[in-house]
Amino acid sequence: TANMEKHSFQTEVKQLLHIMVHSLYSNKEIFLRELISNAADAVDKLRFKSLDDSSLIADDPDFKIRITTDEKAGTVTISDNGIGMTKDDLISNLGTIARSGTAEFLTQLSGDQKKDANLIGQFGVGFYSGFIVADKMTVVSKAAGTDEAHQWVSSGEGEFEIAAAERATRGTDIILHLKQEEKEFLSEWRLRSIIGKYSDHISVPVEMLKPAEPAEEGKEPEPSTEFEAVNKATALWTRSKSDISDEDYKEFYKHISHDFAEPMTWAHNKVEGKQEYTSLLYIPKNAPYDLWNRERSRGVKLYVQRVFIMDDAEQFLPIYLRFVRGVLDSNDLPLNVSREILQDSSVTQSLKNACVKRVLSMLEKTAKNKPEDYQHFWQQFGSVMKEGLGEDFSNRETIAGLMRFASTHNDDQTQNVSLDDYIGRMTEGQDKIYYITAESFETAKNSPHLEVFRKKGIEVLLLSDRIDEWAISHLTDFKEKKLVSVTQGDLDLGNLEDEKEKQEREQVEKENQPLAERFKEVLAERVKEVKVTTRLTDSPACVVSSEGEMSAQMARLMASAGQ
Ligand code: ADP
Ligand code: MG
Repeated sequence: TANMEKHSFQTEVKQLLHIMVHSLYSNKEIFLRELISNAADAVDKLRFKSLDDSSLIADDPDFKIRITTDEKAGTVTISDNGIGMTKDDLISNLGTIARSGTAEFLTQLSGDQKKDANLIGQFGVGFYSGFIVADKMTVVSKAAGTDEAHQWVSSGEGEFEIAAAERATRGTDIILHLKQEEKEFLSEWRLRSIIGKYSDHISVPVEMLKPAEPAEEGKEPEPSTEFEAVNKATALWTRSKSDISDEDYKEFYKHISHDFAEPMTWAHNKVEGKQEYTSLLYIPKNAPYDLWNRERSRGVKLYVQRVFIMDDAEQFLPIYLRFVRGVLDSNDLPLNVSREILQDSSVTQSLKNACVKRVLSMLEKTAKNKPEDYQHFWQQFGSVMKEGLGEDFSNRETIAGLMRFASTHNDDQTQNVSLDDYIGRMTEGQDKIYYITAESFETAKNSPHLEVFRKKGIEVLLLSDRIDEWAISHLTDFKEKKLVSVTQGDLDLGNLEDEKEKQEREQVEKENQPLAERFKEVLAERVKEVKVTTRLTDSPACVVSSEGEMSAQMARLMASAGQ
């Protein structure tokens, strides 16, 4: 057409498209899940907007998604009567990737098909997944409340075209021109089975034409013109638990998280009474590629009285639980709730407390009943859980109980010793939990500070993650046992020393006092004090810090952070 405009995809889109089409080939049917989920999102957005302005939906009030095929043209079309897109929306939403961390994500792609598929899945394949099965996509859209429609056309290589178009009512058609070898997706039966698998929990009806009535002998069957819903079209979390299979829960998780893997576990709760809400919270099996990033989008999908309000509502979970996915549906928040209102609402605070308790108790249950799953969880998310010690004062004891450490008990790098395990193995007269922090496991394990502990058969926790020093500084005690660093200067082995040892120690200290003073003279300002010790059995000397002072490891950490 005359007013056709050519646009280039953002570089990141080109890269993503190329890799996606190649690495997701064995999961190709997910394109339908993605496009239906976009259609459902578009309906949710309009439903929310129409709360303020009902004229937006007056002419077409029944929300729905329709899937149709055209055998001759070789196309599958996904249509919705949701919020629609303006010309500018088409250009920015379907020409760029706005998400933060995109560049970082792209650098992690390796060319290994399986690994990449997983990464892309977590990143969210979205709209562009249509190009796995289509060699051309046409999008025709009219935004609610406007009267101009536009079309977007691309073959998924470098460019797309925008032009004026016709569409009677608001909404969007996504037309997939199937590749020659993907014509199987023209089969109504095939489409129905995919929709059944992915879309039951979507709260909008997904409709297809009714199957044709069987024809009389010798006649062609009359194609049907009537549509019927092929999904259950009730939001999963509103259904009763007994009515939901594990498969349903897992599919819903994949829908909201974009994860290809199944979740480790989930908890679905309906709460009535003073507060009324439903929560469905999932713990993933594997860490996302950008878990380290404390700024990454996180949180739950928020609904109020079953109306979708926002994605990534981060007010309901603390940062250290940023890996949790799920849905929260509250009856107590106002429908016009905004991020600002959420921030200061007392309802938010009590929902947050409840969500945190649920997540921690899910983890406790897994640790108890499925220790192998928990061990895997710890390897994936342990370093993030440790942030909780400093961040969540009110649940510190519970979080501490969930911690796993390496220790001298198995002298192995695997973090699989809990504080309860440790306490269970404490020797007679021991009333403290001992640990050492160092910059690597090897350094921790070979530290001269451990000599006396090894000699006495006392277990020491070996901490060498970057965050450990900071985290452990927030944990002064657990179950009434003090946590003590073995590098502390005035390490008081208390009851662990018998009368004879005490006398020997005092004897040695006295005899060597002049030597210590000589050392102090030579080292002068560089040390605060030089002490004689019986803590070492093989090494001649070691550096210690005094109680309440920054340890050597912490000092290094601060220095590397530029402080
Ligand atoms: P995501 O859904 O994660 O935002 P997608 O790649 O799936 O990413 O979609 C990109 C954007 O395109 C969406 O955020 C939305 O703004 C827009 N979009 C896609 N499909 C539709 C649709 N059917 N109706 C309205 N907007 C849509
Ligand atoms: Mg999407």
